[in-house]
Amino acid sequence: MERNKAYLSRENGDLWLTEDEYDNLKVSYRIKDVIVDQQSPYQDVMILDSYHFGRMLVLDGIVQTTSVDGHIYNEMISHVPLSIHPNPQKVLIIGGGDCGVAREVAKYDEINQIDMVEIDELVVKACIEHLPEVSGGLSDSRVQFIFDDGVKFAAGKKNEYDVIIIDSSDPIGPAQDLFEKEFYQSLHSALKEDGIMVCQSQSPIFHPEVMKKSYTRISELFQAVNLYTAVVPTYPGGLWSFTIGSKKYTKANPNRLSSKDTKYVNEQIVESCFSLPQFIGNLLK
Ligand code: SAM
Repeated sequence: MERNKAYLSRENGDLWLTEDEYDNLKVSYRIKDVIVDQQSPYQDVMILDSYHFGRMLVLDGIVQTTSVDGHIYNEMISHVPLSIHPNPQKVLIIGGGDCGVAREVAKYDEINQIDMVEIDELVVKACIEHLPEVSGGLSDSRVQFIFDDGVKFAAGKKNEYDVIIIDSSDPIGPAQDLFEKEFYQSLHSALKEDGIMVCQSQSPIFHPEVMKKSYTRISELFQAVNLYTAVVPTYPGGLWSFTIGSKKYTKANPNRLSSKDTKYVNEQIVESCFSLPQFIGNLLK
């Protein structure tokens, strides 16, 4: 448990969480209350109640999602691919332990099965119980929880899914292999012949090399590749990237969003999010 304490510190009687995944940058959040503080077989799992961002899920000292801005990321990684695929029936989510992505995917009635492969059951349990603003207390019968390594699970699948969403933590710890070419290869096989995959591809500001590598690897495997962005305040640098690989469909149909209850994504966003700043376009050339 000592490691958790490394992330939490006291200053003048106040409790602070400090993210220090970068050598020369630390980000601190003043904490009201520690709701969950447990070591799972894979990572340190904390749910903290913060003054500025409400409740937040923290894995190995890194903020994953918060009740104030978690919806931005969860809506962007779900509704963009689901507005491009015209009729998804079977969706695979790898990671997604906070259940926010599964909650968004479940908004599409035509989807009849949502497989969610999360390596750490403790994360799901903690978020359903203590982070309802993100998980929505997920209890949709179409969601099949599979507590396993996503790399292993995907390797055995062929021609099964319409959309695959990789909602992974950063490429360290258990999520490292979710950024490797072999994994993207297995996703390509696991998708149907008109399938779409999407992954979070890190910060264009702090990790342009990871973003570029994911984009290049996916472009080598898929008929079409594209990158879109959104600003997630609690992610270092704010600006975040998502990379989408498609075997067929590439254009978003904004009408598919019309009846969906969203707080961030709308018809304009799904079209404009693919417009990239010059430096990202240059990076991807
Ligand atoms: N939406 C937030 C984000 O992108 O930062 C949160 C992502 S979600 C919490 C990341 C999840 O990926 C975690 O619950 C973690 O346990 C899970 N994960 C990491 N490596 C994995 C693997 N190899 N297979 C399945 N799940 C994995």
